[in-house]
Amino acid sequence: MAAGPRCEELFARARRVLPGGVNSPVRAYRSVGGTPLVVRRAAGAEIEDEDGRRYLDFVGSWGPLVLGHAHPEVLAAIAEAAARGTTFGAPCALEVELAEALVAAYPGLEQVRCVSSGTEAVMSAVRLARGATGRDLVVKFSGCYHGHADHLLVAAGSGLATFGRPASAGVPEPFAALTRVLPLDDEEAARALFAREGERIAAVLIEPIPANNGLLLQRREFLATLAELTRAAGALLVFDEVISGFRVARGGAAELYGIEPDLATFGKIVGGGLPVGAFGGKRATMAHLSPEGGVYQAGTLSGNPVAMAAGLATLRLLERDGVHERLEALGRALERALAPVVAASPTPVALARVGSIFWLSLQPGPPPRAAEAIDPGAARRYAALFHALLDAGIALAPSAFEVGFLSAAHTEGDIERLAAALPAALERAAAAAGGERAG
Ligand SMILES: *Cc1c(COP(=O)(O)O)cnc(C)c1O
Repeated sequence: MAAGPRCEELFARARRVLPGGVNSPVRAYRSVGGTPLVVRRAAGAEIEDEDGRRYLDFVGSWGPLVLGHAHPEVLAAIAEAAARGTTFGAPCALEVELAEALVAAYPGLEQVRCVSSGTEAVMSAVRLARGATGRDLVVKFSGCYHGHADHLLVAAGSGLATFGRPASAGVPEPFAALTRVLPLDDEEAARALFAREGERIAAVLIEPIPANNGLLLQRREFLATLAELTRAAGALLVFDEVISGFRVARGGAAELYGIEPDLATFGKIVGGGLPVGAFGGKRATMAHLSPEGGVYQAGTLSGNPVAMAAGLATLRLLERDGVHERLEALGRALERALAPVVAASPTPVALARVGSIFWLSLQPGPPPRAAEAIDPGAARRYAALFHALLDAGIALAPSAFEVGFLSAAHTEGDIERLAAALPAALERAAAAAGGERAG
């Protein structure tokens, strides 16, 4: 089923005035084909497009909407804050309350600074780590995404070298040269890098739950090794919890794995659907930030009262309503409902899940733990599956390597609906795989 006439018309207009018709690339459906849904409104677990078609939504705006779309109490908090003024450029009570909520929730966190996106949070945390250690090198892992700051849009070089190369046009080679890229799930590679260059490393940056290239769940021992290596070398361990923070537990992956990073970055859920990011750590580290220290960082709309209100309302509802327990129960229900579907699938499929984050891995064997283990051919099979589900009124992410999200607005009935629609979608994926072999 093609997109409706109003979506087609709006997207044609969009393409004239927005590059690719979008303000963020994955929304353009390039990897699955077709015209994107142009969304008119959303509530709970459902989105409605401009043609009035409704879809059960497992994208959740890519992570922020842990309570579902347009939660009435979040909307009320936004309206109340906005009525008192939308921005002051001065300290406000709401930013103090959000910072207190973050510090109370996250293991070892003593101070935070609020910014306006996850990208900004990570970019600022890396600058802080460099300023605090007086070192230049940053280590990241292939398959992890940390937003689009220049020094993090870096891919692994060829062969065994860990030297980064630009992953985007416009990123100068000399920037990428300060980033080392390691494979996930590989202690030996990390040890070897630290043996070679440990005293030059400012920070090791990782998504403790890598969820931007499929869901590449890591072993706890691997994360513990990174904590050990950074501590011994005087480098900082930075957990990018922009997706996992307040998603997998109140204290994010740090709580789940029982490992405290030196710095943590947040976004998505902490803004409750408005643009917010934050980063933080121990007071002594954060004291390097301006105006206390020499690391400059600022923002006209940082600590914006309306955004703070949305984030704060979300964090309070998570606690009051025991949402994480509910999400874990829903996640288990998803596993149970999909088990027979996976077992009977005509094409390889496996479910990776942690809490309310899930991913369908369309390749043989268990879900991979490193980017190098991903079968790129899965993308074509996924495109067929994606469109089959969309035809059935179910929206997964328009990319094989983006995860799905459950929210507190989803019900077991919604999960059964997904499980009921999947067998036919997997048939379509299998047929697409047949076409691959044929031609
Ligand atoms: C989404 C994301 C970012 C970037 O956040 P934006 O708000 O999109 O800039 C950074 N890190 C991780 C792990 C993310 O998932």
